[in-house]
Amino acid sequence: MTAPSFTLLFVVALSLTLAVRLWLAARQIAHVSAHRDATPAAFASRIDAASHRKAADYTVAKQRLGMLETAVDAAVLLLVTLGGGLAWLLAATQALDAPALVRDVLLLVGVSVIGGVSALPFSWWRTFRIEERFGFNRTTLATWVADLAKGIAVGAALGLPLAFLVLWLMKSAGAYWWLLVWIAWMAFQLLVLVLYPTLIAPLFNRFSPLPPGDARERIERLLARCGFRSSGLFVMDGSKRSAHGNAYFTGFGRAKRVVFFDTLLARLAPEEIEAVLAHELGHFRLRHVMKRVLWSAVLSLALLVLLAWLAGAPWFYAGLGIPPAGVAAAMARPGVALALFMLALPVFTFLLAPLSSAYSRRHEFEADAFAARHASAPALVAALIKLYEDNAATLTPDPLHSAFYDSHPPASIRVARLTALAAASG
Ligand SMILES: [Zn+2]
Repeated sequence: MTAPSFTLLFVVALSLTLAVRLWLAARQIAHVSAHRDATPAAFASRIDAASHRKAADYTVAKQRLGMLETAVDAAVLLLVTLGGGLAWLLAATQALDAPALVRDVLLLVGVSVIGGVSALPFSWWRTFRIEERFGFNRTTLATWVADLAKGIAVGAALGLPLAFLVLWLMKSAGAYWWLLVWIAWMAFQLLVLVLYPTLIAPLFNRFSPLPPGDARERIERLLARCGFRSSGLFVMDGSKRSAHGNAYFTGFGRAKRVVFFDTLLARLAPEEIEAVLAHELGHFRLRHVMKRVLWSAVLSLALLVLLAWLAGAPWFYAGLGIPPAGVAAAMARPGVALALFMLALPVFTFLLAPLSSAYSRRHEFEADAFAARHASAPALVAALIKLYEDNAATLTPDPLHSAFYDSHPPASIRVARLTALAAASG
């Protein structure tokens, strides 16, 4: 490989990714708009025309902003790589009177700041314009700014030590540094998993025990029936930020917690809450969570091997905007290879997204079937329809857009399968 041919490969992959993303978004907007005025027959009795139109308008508004963000992201990526942004950061940090490791960490911080700053206006617009217009936003500017500050603090507290460790291993651990970095990365993820429920999540939300009552009794019986041990059932004040509802598990091993958004509890009947939780339990019992973790472990090891190879190839640097005279200096600084790798990788992996989406949708069907066995399928259907309506999620996605991106099957297919399961079990 030569530098010019790698540049060409990068530009072709970036153009292809950009074109496919914009084309899929345009398809989604056209499809949803075309079905705006007719609620699908299977939902017509439970979702009124006004809610269906609102879901269409909300979906289109989010897609339009997404298209702009996609274009801006591509432009920023070009500026940072071929436009010389990283080469500039390299020279600026090279000139600092600081240890090599500190200079490399500052380089990574610089790249993160560029990414963060370019994403910020979109985050603001999404929250205070789109979510606001459709009546979902409950975040004040003060909460939004506090979230941002806390997010940066947590990111720095966790990310900086990790960056120091990874860069030090890359520089000093010899030919097999990628194996040691992989072990460090796995340990880091485990640490975050342990810290998240007890230390990180409480920085952003208040958690209180699920109060006694019909819902709690049903949930405890369901957990006992499925042989599931958890260290607590909690309610989270999701309504502080948004009207959207959710339920999730957090932690691992015996320290697992079940968390319900207050917005979900307020909206669903106890039997429906039980069905939603049964679906989430299905993900655990059917080892979906474990499979995901294993996949990501294998994948990250493969990517580190790839990074180790690219870090030793001059064309990788010169092909992504480091001037020929600076390549030798760049190769002596592992931070440059790491930054270029993280910037360029999504461009080459984007077309694999449908594989991951399809894998995830298969798990959703399996978890739905689990919920139908251990709780009530009609209750899950009722809960899903309420959640679709409350979240203004479209019932009529473009099939190709959905196949490409959606981690969850389209509403109509999901509800049809659950209805068939309910009918089969009498
Ligand atoms: Zn699921």
